Amino acid sequence: MKYLTKSPKDTEKLAGFLLEKFTKLGLEKSLVIALEGELGAGKTTFVKGVAKALKIKTNIKSPTFNLMKTYEIRGKSHKTLYHFDCYRLKDHRDLEVMGIKEILNNPDNIILIEWSDRVKKILPKKYIKVHIDHISSNERSITIK
Ligand code: ADP
Ligand code: MG
Repeated sequence: MKYLTKSPKDTEKLAGFLLEKFTKLGLEKSLVIALEGELGAGKTTFVKGVAKALKIKTNIKSPTFNLMKTYEIRGKSHKTLYHFDCYRLKDHRDLEVMGIKEILNNPDNIILIEWSDRVKKILPKKYIKVHIDHISSNERSITIK
């Protein structure tokens, strides 16, 4: 599926709409959303939209310097949102040290991974790929696989 958004708000709304669809897939393990796209494409904006849809009040910032941030989800089928940013990561092994396997296996988790193409080796068999392309200053093409 391919979508065109015309503002950051649009991208946030699309993320909320898609999250609802993904949640209905009834995955056995965690819900993994792999985000691809250049710097400034809108990956973090997409995560913000997911967080808003989950009624997470904390302001989402890219965890570029932390690698990972977690947020509690209240009153939904999932319990924890994990936000990874692998921009500065050298190796997927850094994630293994952090216990990524357990995190991926837990069906209570929603896991969003920016720069997921850098850690392909740790991605589970079933995951949702969100690729964002820069079209113009306010337009983004968002492809879901
Ligand atoms: P990334 O995490 O991919 O580096 P960010 O989400 O941090 O990207 O930044 C995207 C930037 O692009 C923001 O400054 C945002 O305001 C801007 N932007 C403009 N149009 C859009 C759009 N349609 N969708 C998402 N972001 C947009
Ligand atoms: Mg980002």
